[in-house]
Amino acid sequence: MKHLLSLLVLTFLIQSCMKGESADLVIHNAQIHTMDEDNTIYEAIAIKDGKIIEVGPERQIINKYSAEETIDAGSKSIYPGFIDAHGHILSYARQKLSINLVGCKSYDEMLVRIEMYQSRHNRKFIIGRGWNQNLWKKSDGMPTNEKLNELFPDIPVCLFRIDGHALLANDYLIKKSKVVEKFNADAELNSGGYLILDSLQQPTGVFIDNAMNPILDILPDFPLEELKAAILEVQEELFQYGITGVHEAGVQFEELEMLEELMETGEFPLNLYAMLLPTEDNIEFARENGIYQKDNLTVRSFKVVGDGALGSRGAFLKHSYSDLHDHKGYLTTSLERMKNIAKLCEEVNYQMNTHAIGDSTNRIMLELYQNIYEVKPDHRWRIEHAQIVDPIDFKLFAAAGVFPSVQPTHATSDQIWAVSRLGLGRMKGAYAYRSLLNQFGMIAIGTDFPVENIDPFLTIHAAVNRQNSEGVPSGGFQMEESITLEQCLRGMTTWAAFAAFQENELGTLEKGKDATLLILDSPLKINGAFKNNFAYMTFINGKKVYSVE
Ligand SMILES: [Zn+2]
Repeated sequence: MKHLLSLLVLTFLIQSCMKGESADLVIHNAQIHTMDEDNTIYEAIAIKDGKIIEVGPERQIINKYSAEETIDAGSKSIYPGFIDAHGHILSYARQKLSINLVGCKSYDEMLVRIEMYQSRHNRKFIIGRGWNQNLWKKSDGMPTNEKLNELFPDIPVCLFRIDGHALLANDYLIKKSKVVEKFNADAELNSGGYLILDSLQQPTGVFIDNAMNPILDILPDFPLEELKAAILEVQEELFQYGITGVHEAGVQFEELEMLEELMETGEFPLNLYAMLLPTEDNIEFARENGIYQKDNLTVRSFKVVGDGALGSRGAFLKHSYSDLHDHKGYLTTSLERMKNIAKLCEEVNYQMNTHAIGDSTNRIMLELYQNIYEVKPDHRWRIEHAQIVDPIDFKLFAAAGVFPSVQPTHATSDQIWAVSRLGLGRMKGAYAYRSLLNQFGMIAIGTDFPVENIDPFLTIHAAVNRQNSEGVPSGGFQMEESITLEQCLRGMTTWAAFAAFQENELGTLEKGKDATLLILDSPLKINGAFKNNFAYMTFINGKKVYSVE
C-alpha cells in the first residue's frame, strides 16, 4: 500500500513536471493537416527552436506545454508550408524591374507600355519581359521589329517572350551585339536555336533559344540594390501564398552569392533549393564544395536546359511539328555535353534536373538517366516539365526511377494552341500528370513563375479541375490526366520535399521536422471555380514571416 501510494505521488509529480514542459510557440484550436502517411488531422502543435516537438489533440498539447507564445487559430486550417518545386525568383525579380509586358493584348499596347516606362526611367538599355503573341488579337505568328526601330533608333531594346525562350531585339541591339554574325559562325548556337528571317532573308528581330546568347552576353544587369529589393518583394509575395520554399530552377554563381548575403542578414528566410546552371564557375563550386548546405540554402543539383519551348517550336520532337513541316525542334545542350554533366553529377553526388519539353528530349534523358539508376536506384534525378512524352516511353520513368517535376498551369495555358503544334495523336502523352504519377509514384509540383502565375491555388485548380483561371474549358482539359487534391498537395509538400532530399525536415507536420507551415482561413476544397486565396499566417522554422493582420 505504501509502495502504491509513493508510486501515485511519483506519477503525479512526473505529470505536473510535464505540464511545465517549455515550448516557444503553441498553436491550438486548429485543424492541422499533418500530411503524414495516414493524413492525420490534429488540433494543436508545439514548437521549440524552430522544430515541431509535438503535434496532437488539443488537450494533450495545451496541458503539457507552457509556451512563450500561444496562438488560438480559431478553427483555421494548417498545412505544411507549400514548396514551389520549380520557380525562378531571380527572373521574377528582374521582371519586376523590367517593363512588364505580361498580358499585352496587342503589339501596339506593348509599345505604349515601353514608351511610358522609358519616359519615367530613361534607361540606357531597354529591357522588357512577358510578351506573348498568342494573346494578340490580330496575331499571325511572331512579331517583327519595324515599329520598335522607328521608336528607338539609337538605343538597345530587348524584349523577352513570356517563356524566356525567345526575344525581340531592335536593329540597334542586333548591330551592337553582332548577334547575326556570331550566330552564323558558331555551330553550337546554330544547332540549338534559330533566328527568324523575313522574305528578303533579313532578321525580323526574333531570336530563339541559343540564338539569343550573343545578346544575353551583353545584357546589363540591374543595380545590385534594386535587384535585392525586388528579390525581397518576390519573397513577400511567396509568403502571402503560404509558399515557404522554392526549388530555384537555374542560378549563376554570382546570384548565389547575392542570395547568401541576403540570408546572412536574415532578410531572406525562404527555404531555397538552388539548381546550378552548368557554367564553369558553378562546376568549380560543385567540385570544391560537394553537397552544400548553409542556413536555408541547399545546393546539390544542376539544372540543364535540354530543349526549347513548344510555343516557339524549340521543343525537340520525335517527328515534325504539325504546323511546321520538316522541323522537329532541337536540343539546346548537345548530347555529348549532357553526358558529361551526368558524369559530373555522379562524381559530386549532385542531382541532375533537366528541362525536357519535347518527346524526343524526354526519351533521350530517360535513356541517359538509366545509367545512374543502375548504380544508384534512389538517385531522384528529375525531368523538369516532362511535357510531351511518347506514351510508349512512360514506363521508362518507373524503369529508371526518374522523378517527374511538373507545372500544371502549363497545361491550361497551352491548351489553346498545343494541339496545332502537336496534332491530336500526340496530345495523349502531353501534360499527362496522372500517367507520370502512376509511373514514379510521386510528382513534384511547381508553378514555373514568372512564366506562369505564382499563385499556388491556381496550380491546384489547374491540376485537379484542369481549367484556367477563367474556368476554360468548362469540362476540363484532358480530364483523364487530372490528379486529386491530395495528390496535388503532396506534390507541393511531401513529394516536393522528397524531390530535394529534404523529407526529414520538410513536407509533413510531424515531430522533429521544421516548424514550417501556413495557416489558411478554411480547409482547401475543390469546387468548380478558381478562387484566389491567401495564407492567414506563414511560418518558417517557427518564426512568423507573414500575417494578414
Ligand atoms: Zn522554368
